[in-house]
Amino acid sequence: MILPAPIQDLITAFSRLPGIGPKTASRLTFFLLNAPADLAQDLASALQELKTGTAYCQICFNITASERTECEICASSERDPGVICVVEEPLDVLALERTAGFQGRYHVLHGALSPIEGIGPEDLKIRELVARVRSGVVKEIILATNPSLEGDATAMYLDQQLRPLGVRITRLARGLPVGGDLEYADQSTLLRALSGRQEMH
Ligand SMILES: [Zn+2]
Repeated sequence: MILPAPIQDLITAFSRLPGIGPKTASRLTFFLLNAPADLAQDLASALQELKTGTAYCQICFNITASERTECEICASSERDPGVICVVEEPLDVLALERTAGFQGRYHVLHGALSPIEGIGPEDLKIRELVARVRSGVVKEIILATNPSLEGDATAMYLDQQLRPLGVRITRLARGLPVGGDLEYADQSTLLRALSGRQEMH
């Protein structure tokens, strides 16, 4: 059966999303085709807004609304500027915020070092982190990269870069599922990892 182009195009677009195979892509497309028109309309405008309505915080590189230059956490006087928790992705910030157990600020690297994928230090927000630490108010850096090969390598690299600056450097305690993502850890596990953090050296 040859499908009309609008249907085929949407199936192709859905197929490019993580975790969605051709079968699911077809099912979603036909679901939308048969659903009330406002569902497709809402989805389309939300997708449009996703890119135009968001930006990166110029301090921590977390996601924020496009009209702001600083995210709400960086702008808040209630968050301790002396403690920075370094994470790989904005979703990790979300996971840590859900625990309500961290009162410092964040720095989002946007990935982890991976020689296999060709991701080096210059591809991550590492220079910006070093500059933040140099600015003087930072007393502790919590390395909260994922408990994976790449996350550990990134933490070790950051430790080397930041050690000469004389700040306290800690790493989240073990106990998080190894190889897993921070964002999938449950709140109590994350809280325990945070409060049991250990010195890198
Ligand atoms: Zn920020």
